[in-house]
Amino acid sequence: MNSQILHAKLKENFGFEKFRPNQETIINTVLSGQDTLAIMPTGGGKSICFQLPALVLPGITIVISPLIALMKDQVDSLKANGIFACYINSSQSSEEQQFYIDNLKSNRFKLVYIAPESLSYLDVVFNELTISLIAIDEAHCISSWGHDFRPAYTNLGYLKSRFPSTPVLALTATADKATRTDIIKQLKLNNPKTFVASFDRKNLSLEVRPALDRIKQITDFIEKRPNESGIVYCLSRKTTEELADKLRKKGILAKAYHAGLDNKVRAKTQDEFINDDCQVVCATIAFGMGIDKSNVRWVVHYNLPKNIEGYYQEIGRAGRDGLPSETILFESYADVIQLQKFASEGLNADVQLAKLERMKQYADALSCRRKILLSYFGELVTENCGNCDICKKPPIFFDGTILAQKALSAIIRLQQSEPLAVIVDFLRGSKNAYIYEKNYQMLKTYGIGADISWYDWNQYLIQLINLGYCEIAFHQHNKILLTPFAKKVLFEGEKVKLTTVVKKVIDKNAVKEEKATVVKNSLFEKLRRLRYEIAQEEEVPAYVIFSDAALRQMEIVRPMSDEEFLLIDGVGKVKLEKYGSEFINAIIEFYKSKKSSTKTTKESNTYKVTLELFQNGASVQEIASKRKLGLSTVVSHLAKLYVDGHNVNLSQFVSAKEVARLQKAQTVLMNPNALKPYFDYFEGEFSYDKIRLGLAVIEKNNKK
Ligand code: ADP
Ligand code: ZN
Repeated sequence: MNSQILHAKLKENFGFEKFRPNQETIINTVLSGQDTLAIMPTGGGKSICFQLPALVLPGITIVISPLIALMKDQVDSLKANGIFACYINSSQSSEEQQFYIDNLKSNRFKLVYIAPESLSYLDVVFNELTISLIAIDEAHCISSWGHDFRPAYTNLGYLKSRFPSTPVLALTATADKATRTDIIKQLKLNNPKTFVASFDRKNLSLEVRPALDRIKQITDFIEKRPNESGIVYCLSRKTTEELADKLRKKGILAKAYHAGLDNKVRAKTQDEFINDDCQVVCATIAFGMGIDKSNVRWVVHYNLPKNIEGYYQEIGRAGRDGLPSETILFESYADVIQLQKFASEGLNADVQLAKLERMKQYADALSCRRKILLSYFGELVTENCGNCDICKKPPIFFDGTILAQKALSAIIRLQQSEPLAVIVDFLRGSKNAYIYEKNYQMLKTYGIGADISWYDWNQYLIQLINLGYCEIAFHQHNKILLTPFAKKVLFEGEKVKLTTVVKKVIDKNAVKEEKATVVKNSLFEKLRRLRYEIAQEEEVPAYVIFSDAALRQMEIVRPMSDEEFLLIDGVGKVKLEKYGSEFINAIIEFYKSKKSSTKTTKESNTYKVTLELFQNGASVQEIASKRKLGLSTVVSHLAKLYVDGHNVNLSQFVSAKEVARLQKAQTVLMNPNALKPYFDYFEGEFSYDKIRLGLAVIEKNNKK
């Protein structure tokens, strides 16, 4: 289909300006009647690939999905866009199910979502429907190769036999080849076209931290992000509960979620999270499968995951709306030992251990982490990503030969019979009971590394293990053994390169200050509250009304008319009609009240911090990343500071000539208080930041 028409449909029905990678080609293939296998990462935008064809094609599209909660979500989202859709699954009473089945015959619905278990109910109406497309979501569930095999999926092959001329679109985020081939075979796809989108999710930042003081680190992290939803994944049920408890004591709305909890409790927690009533969920891996929440802003791994597939899927639950989102993985030596034990005792021990090893290599990486992740999924990347901790702060190497010699000879002195903690105690000359009991204080070289902290020694020893000079015997009380390579360091003069130990310093005052300002100030917060109220009224998750990305755009563009509002990504025809006036009014009001109100101390504080950094020569980017603010927020700070008479030199951002041109535009524009009209007037020549700062200069001149 003509690209212009497809784009128009995308905007009108879903409010999006552009297709994400592969969406348009997949849609065209589906529309041409061909069977298709689409592989896209979580958050890549799979749904549009069948939802848009469903609107264009004459009959109904059947969507098979294993996740009951997700069905309701997707149907709510479709309805919010004015698209007729329904779902049929076991969460409904049989009357309800019958009601929808009867209604399918009326041809009102464009899409019906159905669980594979309920598919047989449709049998009675199949012959009366015009089925134009069958979409099979989470198609990897059909394969016992995949990681969440579902028996009910194995029957789906009959669909192709029954409707040989109806195209089938299979979708999944699982990339591995065996699963792919299995999907095609079992669904009996006819000469399908396969599309594999890049697995790169550039908006997710990647970071690994040593598991030191995890709870404090996590608390500080969350306190800096008071309204941001996030998930903390933990290995054990017990940890989820303990952590949630501790976070609650700090005043954070956190709940535990794991398979041992009552169904009702779990469903409630999930609902609250989806509806922004619960900020943080501390979960075992069971959580997140069935949710489509697009504004999960961060994911933390409290423990090391078992493998990279699982890890990538879990961090993938952050930032589906495409906005920058953060991920942190805490790596601990104790976790590695425990996971190694699990893996070696479970099924397929060799494979599981190898997978764990890859996971560990990722966590210990000394080069761009994203490269490692993507290469795991078979993508070759040559550029460093710039959005992982290694790229942002490359490790510093030093000659650690002497340190290595001290550590390795300590292991020999202790006869390769002690775990890491004892070796560190020995090196540091600790006077504890165990050391004395064993008389280790009598050995030569006891206390030879007393000048290095306990924590640093731990890190160095872990590096030596990773470098292969020693290893953990995890079935023999985790004692540390030397490998044959240790000889080279001890006796053959081999040099050892270690990296310096980085500690994250957390500035408490900065945390408090950010916390106060983020909540109070922004238009975003005001819009978020409005969205929450509407969502409560309509009983749908907030992101069904608008995504965070849409609200952020509103904050920057400040739409003050229907026309401008329609330009926001995520605003289609129906949403403009439904919500346009409320949001536009909120924006207009916000700027009115901003003008008249006097500023509070807290407000002025945040500006002061920006001012100080700026006057010390920091660039806008540096201030933004340091303060974890958006670039546009920093720009707006500068604008305000300038208007308030502070010494801020704006000429590097906007020239006098440009100011003059803006001033001229001001006299002819209908709505000179918004930024968008200027943007359009200059046909994109002036960025929003430039316009904002230019207007500040004008405002200041008018004051004089
Ligand atoms: P997946 O099923 O692949 O995990 P979804 O279909 O749920 O991903 O899409 C993820 C998010 O991206 C949703 O919030 C969706 O509205 C948004 N999205 C999808 N396509 C586009 C697009 N072309 N432009 C902007 N946002 C999009
Ligand atoms: Zn990187």
